Amino acid sequence: MNNQLFIEAAMRSKLYQKKLKNIELDDWNRIPFTTKDDLRKADTFDVLGVPLHQVATYHETSGTTGTPTPSWYSHKDHELGAQVVLQSSLKLNEQDVVLNRFPFALAIPSFIVYDACQKAGAGHIGVDKASMVTPDRRVIEIINRTNPTILTMLPSEAEKLYHVGLLMGVRFPTKGLRALLLAGELVSTARKKYIENLWGVPVHLLFGSTETGGLFMTCEHGHYHLDNPNVKIEAVDEKGRPVEKGTKGNCVISSSREGMPLLRYYNQDIIQLMDGSHCQCKKTEPIMIHYGRKEDVIEYQNKSVNFYELQEAVYTLHEVPFMWKIKTSINRVQFLCQFIEPVGTAILAAIQRELSEKLGFDIEIQQTDIIPIDKLMDKPAYGKYAYIEREPIHEPELIVK
Ligand SMILES: [Zn+2]
Repeated sequence: MNNQLFIEAAMRSKLYQKKLKNIELDDWNRIPFTTKDDLRKADTFDVLGVPLHQVATYHETSGTTGTPTPSWYSHKDHELGAQVVLQSSLKLNEQDVVLNRFPFALAIPSFIVYDACQKAGAGHIGVDKASMVTPDRRVIEIINRTNPTILTMLPSEAEKLYHVGLLMGVRFPTKGLRALLLAGELVSTARKKYIENLWGVPVHLLFGSTETGGLFMTCEHGHYHLDNPNVKIEAVDEKGRPVEKGTKGNCVISSSREGMPLLRYYNQDIIQLMDGSHCQCKKTEPIMIHYGRKEDVIEYQNKSVNFYELQEAVYTLHEVPFMWKIKTSINRVQFLCQFIEPVGTAILAAIQRELSEKLGFDIEIQQTDIIPIDKLMDKPAYGKYAYIEREPIHEPELIVK
């Protein structure tokens, strides 16, 4: 798609009619970036690119990094989102039964998966991650009962659910399972391999966000090829100038999506664009490597480590923890980790050495309960209200009878 079509799509929203009012649009590189702040400050209806009657769904960003951003989707946006999945190497088809653990409240991936299942004629099981009706244990039970061929969820959920399954005596891969489709968090090459080893099936990744929708899926070699004609990706330096191919830069996304078009959206992600023709799959479009958010970069002891590099270090450790997180302050960086079976001080010291070496700075280590293990095995809280309550029959009465 050429630049003009992205400009035309953008000009259908009030946000851009206002923003680009006195701006020369002939020179693409001089079109101002759209920032997260622009979207946060915009009126909810100003970001709309279609009349309200063409809207199919409304979503919002989680708000973890500030005020939530509104995001509208037209019926056509839903169709095109499903196409991203359908045209991918996942090869979703009518023989598939998909267990969908993405949250349905406000997020978009759950709908992309559902739309794709409808289009492909695949079976769909909704087991919302954030619903009290479907805690981890219930999901494992449903997997055992229904033998889904594809599981879709957040990467951290895939790691957690695997361990819940282990605790329940499940053997992996579960019967009939052929793939996982993950989205919503960064997955480095080492992390992808780690999750594939846990579940024993290939992992497919969907790249996108609530603002942009689903944009790309990984090819069979794990690469995001820029093969979506409705999206333009640029990598720019700190001054906003395009960087050379193969150099890391700031991600700038343009999308002609009807519900909420975006023109040169500077989303605070770090990416690198590479020549795509070297990939062993047949695609020739450039490859995008995603290194995570700028705010997730750790600067310490004259070293700078982005989230991708951090994952590469953690997921190649000799002992990968069940859960982990990094805690930083001015004078120290801590690696908090949790193992299903707590490890001894010798192993902990070895992990600390190994991780410090990989990252290039001194990291402290602390074993802690990030998620209480018994919480993982919680029973479902049923969502239905009981209108008729029967008192239990007391034992003495039974004896009288
Ligand atoms: Zn490829």
